[in-house]
Amino acid sequence: MDVVLDLDGLDALIGVLREGGRAVVGPVLRDDAITLAELSSATDLPSGWGVETGPGHYRVRERADAAVFGHSAGPQSWKRFLHPPRRALVSSDGEGFHSAGDDAPDYAFLGVRPCDLAAIAKLRQIVGGRAPFVVAAQCTEPGEVCFCASMGCGPAAGAGYDIALTERIDSGGHRFLATSGTEDGAAALARVPARAAAPNDITLAEQDVEAARGRMGRAMPELDLRDLLASSRDSAHWETVAERCLTCGNCTMVCPTCFCVSVEDTTDLDGNAERSQRWASCFEIDFSHLHGGAVRTSGAARYRQWMTHKLGTWHDQFGTSGCVGCGRCIAWCPAGIDITEEAAALAGGKRP
Ligand code: SF4
Ligand code: SF4
Repeated sequence: MDVVLDLDGLDALIGVLREGGRAVVGPVLRDDAITLAELSSATDLPSGWGVETGPGHYRVRERADAAVFGHSAGPQSWKRFLHPPRRALVSSDGEGFHSAGDDAPDYAFLGVRPCDLAAIAKLRQIVGGRAPFVVAAQCTEPGEVCFCASMGCGPAAGAGYDIALTERIDSGGHRFLATSGTEDGAAALARVPARAAAPNDITLAEQDVEAARGRMGRAMPELDLRDLLASSRDSAHWETVAERCLTCGNCTMVCPTCFCVSVEDTTDLDGNAERSQRWASCFEIDFSHLHGGAVRTSGAARYRQWMTHKLGTWHDQFGTSGCVGCGRCIAWCPAGIDITEEAAALAGGKRP
């Protein structure tokens, strides 16, 4: 059954999840960005803050209302909790080897946007790990660089949530339509103050989400992207992109599905050693190092690798696209390179 919570109800939901022993992580305003951090209550949420995005552009801005989920994707994704930037694998103290084990808490992710809900499923398909409890926030506030609708990943939350919230502020107050997706979600909702949803609550929420579909700043060309990338291997366009691409790897770091790692060994003078993994990027020159040197030495080859894998060969490996249309790689590219524009250019300049 759908119910309606107010802010106190949302706060109670955070309390219920924390009482269950979970680390509740959600959006917070920090360092002039909407980042992700552990929440102790609903007052930690970025009430009244939105964002303004564009190619190579991200700014927080004050909203005219007190929405807590009124922002599009920020620089961090849930990847940093499911697949940390650096993780010890094994250590040695001179007397033996010790496996690092898994000391991650049980997470509850609160405020997961539909694009990121899809990204969590794609990432967990690869890196595994324990399933987090997910409180999704349906998208009613798409950004200028968002294109999840054209990737089939939003603005409505797809499968994989325990609870889905739709935030609304109007003359009826500040409230959240809450829908449970699992028994755990229903059990959590049953423990918080809420009223039964009226038909109009559901209709308004559906209208708000549908309106978001038409307000996305971008769209991926409606083509078979796998075929497009497969047939673009020798395109002259890769050199054109490379004239702008700095091969910095920002796009891979912010992408919620990029999962590549390097494995490193470190030792100290006391004889202790540690093997760890850290996020790596296909834009690093050493990423393609085989005997004799790197295989992909040019920026053109590295950009082609990233985009071809993300939109094309990911289908062959994992049966799905590697892109959910969150737009982070566009906002956080210092050169403002836009994956939807590059796909359109490869397709012959056609924009959707
Ligand atoms: S490729 Fe870009 S838009 Fe697609 S999921 Fe990664 S960061 Fe988001
Ligand atoms: S596309 Fe942009 S973010 Fe990615 S490596 Fe090139 S310059 Fe950096």
